[in-house]
Amino acid sequence: MILSKKGLGIKPSPTLEIDTLAKKMKKQGIDVVSFGAGEPDFDTPDYIKKAAIEAIQSGFTKYTPASGTLELKQVICNKLKKDNDLEYVPANIVVSNGAKHSLLNAFQAICNPGDEIILFSPYWVSYPEIIKLAGAIPVIVNMDAKNNFKMHVKQIQAQITDKTKAILINSPNNPSGQVYERADLEKIATLAIEHDLFIISDEIYEKFLYEDYTHVSIASLNEKIKNNTILVNGVSKTYAMTGWRIGYTASNTAVAKIMSNIQSHETANPNSIAQKAAEAAISGDQSLIHEMITQFVSRRNYIVERIQSIQYLSCIVPNGAFYLMVNISQLIGKSIDGITILNADVFAKAMLEKVNVAVVPCTGFGVTGYIRLSYAIKLENIKIGLDRIEAFLQKVD
Ligand code: PLP
Repeated sequence: MILSKKGLGIKPSPTLEIDTLAKKMKKQGIDVVSFGAGEPDFDTPDYIKKAAIEAIQSGFTKYTPASGTLELKQVICNKLKKDNDLEYVPANIVVSNGAKHSLLNAFQAICNPGDEIILFSPYWVSYPEIIKLAGAIPVIVNMDAKNNFKMHVKQIQAQITDKTKAILINSPNNPSGQVYERADLEKIATLAIEHDLFIISDEIYEKFLYEDYTHVSIASLNEKIKNNTILVNGVSKTYAMTGWRIGYTASNTAVAKIMSNIQSHETANPNSIAQKAAEAAISGDQSLIHEMITQFVSRRNYIVERIQSIQYLSCIVPNGAFYLMVNISQLIGKSIDGITILNADVFAKAMLEKVNVAVVPCTGFGVTGYIRLSYAIKLENIKIGLDRIEAFLQKVD
């Protein structure tokens, strides 16, 4: 039987694969330290859980409008005004089953077959696959490792053709932890307006910022770029709500209408109870975010210092999100405990097998010679994991 070419062309998510493998090993009683997770280790706060319980008890358990409740959309508009200085009304907002789903809707709403979407490597693993699902072509612009993979606008400009439909940006970035500066965003905005391109701006890590870094939403730069931007965000990371599956977009009303129509057939509304929980999360007391950030800061400082002190390893200091890219290129071709390290994939597999430490090779993020460590795990586990990595590397021949 002939299967879908599009379906066959989609690769599984390597981050979820590593995470599943590590969780399976843990279930078997193996003491795995997993740096693979893309989710905060904190529990969803009680005030959010309470809102969900109340929703169930009050019978808020039926279909809602396909693109989300008016109340949640209004709360999202208030948040965008307060945090991002952006004026939107509920008709601009589409609430979906996680930011991943929002991205899928966004590309489906704007792409025709053969359209090109520019994105930068390192990129989040799902982007190229989501773009392909929408019938478009990912055009990857490789950012320079020597420049800590910082965005370089001239390189982007060189890739614009008459097929280019959009530029996809992600700040703070997964996996590099880089935060785009206002001046760079201004240059991208100018390019997008000049060539009449959409900007898809994935801002899911906006609250995870270190030192003096601040988040600038590209849509807030001016009205023209706001009209061309589809802003993507959600509650998964900020409120430790990865399993609840609520993401959203803010866009012009024409795009929002198409996304809403698409969603009305593909999934209908996101879970009604999770919508009530998200409403409470976004409108409630935000002090817990600051507590989480304080912990992320100490974890980041510890992990960076330790990695920099381990022979053969170096890292890019992240300014945001909760990931660290570790350069392992000095190990390529070397033998560790009988295993020849041919690439980052072999290294990651060897670490899982030999010292029960799960990390993600950056191959899936479009970069060779790097692994990604998530520090969304407890500090004591970070310490144990790094001790194991250090001990493993003492076995380099
Ligand atoms: N965007 C980026 C950059 C991510 O890293 C992730 C999750 O890892 C998502 C979007 C998806 O978030 P959600 O859980 O809301 O679908």
